[in-house]
Amino acid sequence: NQMADKLEKIETMRRQLIGDVSHELRTPLTAIKGYLEALMDGVLPANPETYQQIHSEIDRLQRLVNDLQELSRVEADVIQLQVAPVSPASLIERIQNTLGRQFEEKNIKLVTDVEPGLPNVLLDQDRIIQVLTNLVGNALQYTPKGGKVIICVRWEKTNLLFSVKDTGIGISAEQLNFIFNRFYRTDKSRNRASGGSGIGLTIAKALVQAHRGTIWAESNGEGKGSTFSFLIPIPK
Ligand code: ADP
Repeated sequence: NQMADKLEKIETMRRQLIGDVSHELRTPLTAIKGYLEALMDGVLPANPETYQQIHSEIDRLQRLVNDLQELSRVEADVIQLQVAPVSPASLIERIQNTLGRQFEEKNIKLVTDVEPGLPNVLLDQDRIIQVLTNLVGNALQYTPKGGKVIICVRWEKTNLLFSVKDTGIGISAEQLNFIFNRFYRTDKSRNRASGGSGIGLTIAKALVQAHRGTIWAESNGEGKGSTFSFLIPIPK
């Protein structure tokens, strides 16, 4: 019976995933088709701006397909961690180097708070950078100009605690329950425009769990900022 239950659950998940994916693919495809038809009918001028719009829709489609591929890998539980000793401070530096400019451009202050004297720890550097990039990228995206984002890493008992705190749009208590679900976005229309697929946090969670860690989000509500944290257990 348990086996039958499990199979039924997998089948339901599979059906839902196909439904979700078709829905996600339809939006950019409809837009691209619309642009092309307008071009063909002469409603839209064949100028660089029109081509740019079509190009950016295709870009979204491509990002979505890449995200989906990554999602299928993490959901199939085939994440092979490449664990090696890493300095936690160097991870934060990498994030600063890759995203720093985008913070400057949007006039958001990026602050780092690294506990001094942290030892090297065993983890998969690329995967943890992927998680941090997602969290810091979200903080950048969901924080209005003039805001502030703090990346913190410190020791907590036998775990390494990473957190990304922003002064952005915040998340309601109700929505906090869903944000790690695949394809979930708190504001569908706005995030559609900015290209979010609602997959990033699902992937981040799977990568943290592959390290036997936990990830969670906190917010005092809409307009009151958010903090995303994850703990990675480090055996002595
Ligand atoms: P997306 O690609 O849409 O950003 P994610 O899985 O990374 O997908 O995030 C899921 C949703 O969680 C986002 O669409 C957004 O609504 C919400 N979210 C994530 N990070 C933040 C944040 N720092 N502040 C406010 N909302 C956030």
